[in-house]
Amino acid sequence: MKIYRYPIKDSWKDLVKRPVLEQKEISGLITDIFAEVEKNGDKALREFNEKFDKADTQSISVTEEEIENAEKQISNELKQAIQQAKENISKFHASQKQEIQKVETVKGVVCWRENRAVEKVGIYIPGGTAPLFSTVLMLAVPANLAGCKEIVLCTPPDKNGNINPAILYAAKLCGVSKIFKTGGAQAVAAMTFGTETIPAVNKIFGPGNQFVVAAKEYAQRYGVAIDMPAGPSEVLVIADEQAVPDFCAADLLSQAEHGSDSQVVFISTDLKVFEETVKAIGQQIRDLPRNEFAAQALENSSFILINTLKEALEFSNLYAPEHLILAIADFEKYIPLIENAGSVFLGNYSCESAGDYASGTNHTLPTNGYAKNYSGVSLDSFVKKITFQQLSKEGLQNLGKTIELMAEAEGLFAHKNAVSIRLK
Ligand code: NAD
Repeated sequence: MKIYRYPIKDSWKDLVKRPVLEQKEISGLITDIFAEVEKNGDKALREFNEKFDKADTQSISVTEEEIENAEKQISNELKQAIQQAKENISKFHASQKQEIQKVETVKGVVCWRENRAVEKVGIYIPGGTAPLFSTVLMLAVPANLAGCKEIVLCTPPDKNGNINPAILYAAKLCGVSKIFKTGGAQAVAAMTFGTETIPAVNKIFGPGNQFVVAAKEYAQRYGVAIDMPAGPSEVLVIADEQAVPDFCAADLLSQAEHGSDSQVVFISTDLKVFEETVKAIGQQIRDLPRNEFAAQALENSSFILINTLKEALEFSNLYAPEHLILAIADFEKYIPLIENAGSVFLGNYSCESAGDYASGTNHTLPTNGYAKNYSGVSLDSFVKKITFQQLSKEGLQNLGKTIELMAEAEGLFAHKNAVSIRLK
């Protein structure tokens, strides 16, 4: 880990950099993968499964039988946990539904918006190093609430060519029927072009490693929309003198264990909390099964001592973290200073894993500084908003002169005439 004591502001722009792979290398690879999938469809997917996931998959589609068997392999306790998480995620996302609001801008001129679901959506469920069945809930629940007609799920198979049973169970619970064994950039390409078995979709959702993020970005040139760049996980923790070092260390490690390209940032105004957190990380990491990933991620991570909480928030806004934890006493006072963050956790008991799994908020969030211009996934991500207007004769009389004048000034006389002809 890199330790910085009271770094000057001029150096901050270097401290907010993420450990990203060489973009040139990735983009060549993505172009090749897309070309191969477009040309050879399922055959290409089977070959990529072999190459990248060491999996022999005769069939890309998951069968009904595999889904039924999955249910039997999961403990009742885990099923109940998944159901409770689903309930909370449903509750929070259902609350995002808005009533149609009709506005009379001028007497006789009424405008409003209505939502329509994106018809076909593709959800990518990461499975390279950990089977993230929680992501199924995060994407399929709002897709269903929004009314999407078709939900296509892609996830990498394990070495035996199987999908983790908890992913299949969560998919069934959330009404996803089309599940396919393919991961990485090739899965994104398949949902973009469609193959013999996988339908093409209108919008692709979901987090993933840097290959998945680059592929989603590339897919947009074929007219497919994406949710946002949601890549390797990050957390930034701000701690004052009342923070609990063991809690801070646990939160930092919870993101570091995602993968070697994850990044965690710890900022403290208190030397004792700072030193004890660093010590606690050394102790807690030993017991983690994924401590190799965590140790690699920590190598790219920054631990920063800073003078004031105001400065800490300033740094955080420049970094724009996916997850921001305020382990500080007076967090309410600092909420208005937060400009850029994917999701925020307040106080000593709001651990980030709560949002990852079960509190109700969505865990598909912008990384790599994209919290400066993107929101995380929400119900809105699955709908388009269509505007409507209705003008009565009186409405057009009230607004006509304005439209005619503006159209004439732009030299668009057919536009002007569409009003004049009605008001004659
Ligand atoms: P993944 O499913 O994203 O990626 C695995 C796939 O990557 C493989 O199937 C393979 O096709 C491809 N791949 C691997 N190495 C490759 C190579 N050298 N060349 C080409 N393709 C290759 O699973 P993962 O790797 O475990 O990553 C999951 C990621 O998702 C982590 O980085 C985690 O931090 C991130 N994540 C982000 C969020 C968010 O909201 N931002 C949420 C959860 C997880």
